[in-house]
Amino acid sequence: MNQPENFYYSQNKLQDYIDCPRRFELKYLLKQDWPAIRSEPIREIEHHQRLGNQFHLFIQQYFNGLSPEIISKQTTDPVLLNWWRSFELFSKTIHFDNVYPEFQISAQIGNSRFYGVIDLITTDQDGNITIYDWKTNKKKPSRNTLNQKIQTKLYRLMTALNYARFFKEINFSPNKIRMEYWFVNDPTSTMVFPYDETLFLSDQSFFNQLIETIQNTGENFFVKTEDQNRCKFCNYRSLCARGIQAGEISSFDELPENEDLLDFDLNELTELEF
Ligand code: SF4
Repeated sequence: MNQPENFYYSQNKLQDYIDCPRRFELKYLLKQDWPAIRSEPIREIEHHQRLGNQFHLFIQQYFNGLSPEIISKQTTDPVLLNWWRSFELFSKTIHFDNVYPEFQISAQIGNSRFYGVIDLITTDQDGNITIYDWKTNKKKPSRNTLNQKIQTKLYRLMTALNYARFFKEINFSPNKIRMEYWFVNDPTSTMVFPYDETLFLSDQSFFNQLIETIQNTGENFFVKTEDQNRCKFCNYRSLCARGIQAGEISSFDELPENEDLLDFDLNELTELEF
């Protein structure tokens, strides 16, 4: 492939590749604009996306020290207020010594640069790290779906590769890392994904092979997905002759998060100081 200058990989880009290689090519390599409405009604999807972004901001403010009362005064939206009240209850179960909301993380895997924004990282004095992710999906994903997600693999791996940034005097072990998903629509039941040496090694091999496959694919050889359900929510469906009718928001698993909406220049990314 012809890699754009300063190209980096992220969980959103690689998930797009897994879902549909052609979408990855159109979106990130060819940067093809296409004016299709992704889902109907568009106002509903935009509203849900705005709530999701606002909710992530509330949690960031909370862990930066703003009081819950002040945070909740920023909205009158009943859905957002309900999410926030649920999160306030859940937050009392999070124990930590240090906390890093909206943590920007980068890592070199093979010859490629990876980048991500993690909703929350907490650490304790024993060298344990928990990666949190807040899910505002309309439907709660299955454990198997989350286990297969690029996000679950990549965030644990990148955190493992950054371990020395958190703990200079504790020896690294993948077992010290875990990822926990929290869901607005099932706030009392999180899903936890531990990490270990076997996963640490197999994830490195997985991403090296994945990137090698991508980099060895020539222009216009990125194939369209065979699962046409994925096209219902894709901007490019008319370009790909995969139909005009969009899907409904109720069947849309997940809306893109911040990382997907911002086009980062890695040269501008500064490492967070501890
Ligand atoms: S419309 Fe379908 S085939 Fe075309 S890029 Fe999107 S998901 Fe892939």
